[in-house]
Formats: sequence, structure tokens, C-alpha cells
Amino acid sequence: MSISYTEPAVTSAPDSPSYPPSVDKLARSLADIDLPHPMLVEAARAAIDAGDPQRARELAATMARSLLRPVINGTGTLLHTNLGRAPLAWSQAAAYSNLELDLTTGERGSRMATAPALIARACGAEAALVVNNCAAAVMLVLAALAEGRGVVVSRGELVEIGGGFRVPEVMERSGARLIEVGTTNRTRVDDFRRAVDEHGDDAGVLLQVHQSNYRIVGFTEAPRTAELASIDRPLVADIGSGLLDSRCPWLDSGPPGWLDDEPAARQTLDAGADLVTFSGDKLFGGPQAGIIAGRADLVAACSRHPLARALRPGSLVLGALQETALAYLRGDGDAIPFWRMVAVPVETLRHRAAALGVGIPVDVMSTPGGGTLPTVEIPSAGVAVPGDHRERLRNRPRPLIARVVDNRTIVDLRTVEADDDAEVAAALADISTPTDAAVDD
Ligand SMILES: *Cc1c(COP(=O)(O)O)cnc(C)c1O
Repeated sequence: MSISYTEPAVTSAPDSPSYPPSVDKLARSLADIDLPHPMLVEAARAAIDAGDPQRARELAATMARSLLRPVINGTGTLLHTNLGRAPLAWSQAAAYSNLELDLTTGERGSRMATAPALIARACGAEAALVVNNCAAAVMLVLAALAEGRGVVVSRGELVEIGGGFRVPEVMERSGARLIEVGTTNRTRVDDFRRAVDEHGDDAGVLLQVHQSNYRIVGFTEAPRTAELASIDRPLVADIGSGLLDSRCPWLDSGPPGWLDDEPAARQTLDAGADLVTFSGDKLFGGPQAGIIAGRADLVAACSRHPLARALRPGSLVLGALQETALAYLRGDGDAIPFWRMVAVPVETLRHRAAALGVGIPVDVMSTPGGGTLPTVEIPSAGVAVPGDHRERLRNRPRPLIARVVDNRTIVDLRTVEADDDAEVAAALADISTPTDAAVDD
């Protein structure tokens, strides 16, 4: 790649009449920008049509910058929604796989026999199914278990999670009907019981939704999973964040204190939930996916529903999930980038900050992010540089995403792989030296 990311010099359009250069010639002059020729032609044509051929380079550079690329996350937000939530280390060479071939029998196999089966084992579920994301998981479960019937939910859990996941709307799409019970701040198990008595068979499923991205504090009450499990209806718990086991057996240091109130798949199932749903790319630390785990007969009902076919993942996602699930089964949190970053002691980060040799070492607070654990902060360390340099850092061939606090640019090292420290140091050294960008001032 040979893209120039320095902002192109913006010269004003000449007032004197000038003949526009040919689109093709202008496009060819942009050949150093790593884009397919037709895209360079598009940039050239747009610039000429706008009467400003000089802008062609800027337009093409903007197109190049809009492509997906690896970035260094210096924000300290571990599950940054804009940066793809959990960091993902998975690539696949061009090759066939035994996605749906049983290598023992040579017969057709099931793609759900791989990663989903391992995830079920890792969280103590009878069975599991994987779809595109957790929103899809909730929709499929409700469609499969309650289409045309009612789903009982607490009014305190009719939530909206980031990216427009609204429980009432997902429910409507699934063909199930909402039966709201209780109040915003207080709902009791008796509210659910009464609704089931009143609606009879029409109340098909009880749904618990974790308040992932907000907290109701003060005069509150919500039924525990174990209480709801005593009601004779399938209980579905949308735990969202994908913590597999509250004991975190994959961490040598045990569960971090800030996970205390986070529902975990294994414990929620143990408490009596029939199914749990969660995201693959939040605390699970894998690729974007939605996981449905629990009772084998209910998981089978979900797989038989026609929507399951429309929501099924391919081998890239299943391969990445399998890798993550195997790491959990080995108890190897270090092999899961999210948990490896979580577990780094703050002293280690302070040493790394000092060793960068640029900027001022500072103590900062990281956050889990990704619409999880809204009130949690994790002690961390990084470096600060006076001024707001986010744009220049973003425009590097491998962008470094930083945050600004009190007019200082902060790079939090908790979300930076140690191997990338040298690149962070180089990036910060670059902004400490004046360049053409400063000429604008
Ligand atoms: C994040 C979240 C979702 C949505 O998950 P996606 O994987 O982003 O679709 C749904 N429910 C809960 C409780 C969540 O926390």
C-alpha cells in the first residue's frame, strides 16, 4: 500500500479560465492511491464536475480512508462499538472446510456441530445455536417459541441497546406479542404469575432482558431468574454481554471485582433459565455473532424455524468462534485478546507508558464499553500529549484512535497490544514535530 494520508494541499480554484483536464489523465495522476482504477475515475469525474479538479486527490484519499483496515485502539474502551467491539485475531487462507461434512461418516454433517457445540460445553448448556448477532438470537427464539402468542416481560426491561435493538420492536418482528408486567422500577415474580394465569396458553414464554447499558437505582425490585424458573413456561434470559461463567476459570487472577453483578451464561442456566442469548463480540471476546444456549429441545425448535436459515453464520464466523470456545475450554484467557487486555496489571501498563519515551505518563480509567457495564471503570495507564491530535493520528496508514480530555490527547495502553507500543511511540513522536498541517494555522 502506498497511500498518502497527509492532507492534500488545498489550493483555491483558479479564477482564470482553464480547460478541465481529461478525467482519465486526472485519474492516472492518482495512481499512487491504492484504489481500483474505476474508483479513481469516479473521484476525478466528481472533482471535474464540481469545477475543482484539484480536489480529486482529496476525494480519492477519502474513499481510500473509508475502507476497512486495522487500527490501534488507544481509547481504553475495550469493547469499542465503532472499532468492532472485541479485538479479533482470526484469518483464514483460501481453503475448503468440513463446514457441513461429517469426517467420520463421510455423510452430510451440521455446521452447528462445531463451534456451537463447544460453546454449549463451555457454559454447561445441553445445546447451542449460532446466528448473526444477539438481536437475531432474541428474534429467532421468540419466533420459534412464541410466534402468534404472548411473551411476558417486565416493564423495567423493555430496553433499547445500542444500535437500535429495542425489545418491543424485535418482539413485534418475531411475530410474538408483548405482555408487559410490573412497573419501570419494580416488578415481582407475582406479576409474571398473574399474567400467566390470566393469559393461559397464550402466554408462551417468559423473557428476562439484562439492563446491559444502563442501571435503575434506588427503589427497585426485579425477580431473580430462579424465581421466574418456578413458573411453568419456558424462561428465556437475554444476558447480552456473553460472560460465560461468573467464576472466570480462564483467568489466573480469578474474576475481576467489576464483573460482580454481570449475569453469566452458566449461572443463569443453573438458576433455571431454559435458554440464554448473548453476543459473540462483547465479554465473550469473539467475532460478531449471537448465541442461543440451553435446553436441547428448545434449541432444536429454534434451528427448525425458517428464520434460522436466514440468520446462520458462515465458516469465517464459526471458525473464529471455535477458536474462542477452545480457548475457554483450555482455561486459557490469554488466548482471547479481550481477556488478555483485561488481565494486564496496571503496573505493567505504567512501565510500558514510561518506556514509550514520548508524552507524559498518566494514570487513566479504561471502560468495558460495547453497551456493557455502564458504570464500570478499570484502572489503567497511558500517555498524554498536550493538544487535540486525534485527526492526525486517525490519518496514519494504521490509524491510532485516541481520546481527548481537557485538551490533552490521551492514549490508554490497556487496549493497545504491547507489540504495538513502538508504533504508538512513533505516532506520538510524529505529532510532537511540526509538519505541513501546522502551516495552515
Ligand atoms: C448487546 C445486547 C443485545 C444486542 O446484541 P447484538 O449482538 O449487538 O445484536 C441484545 N440484548 C442485550 C441484553 C445486549 O446487551
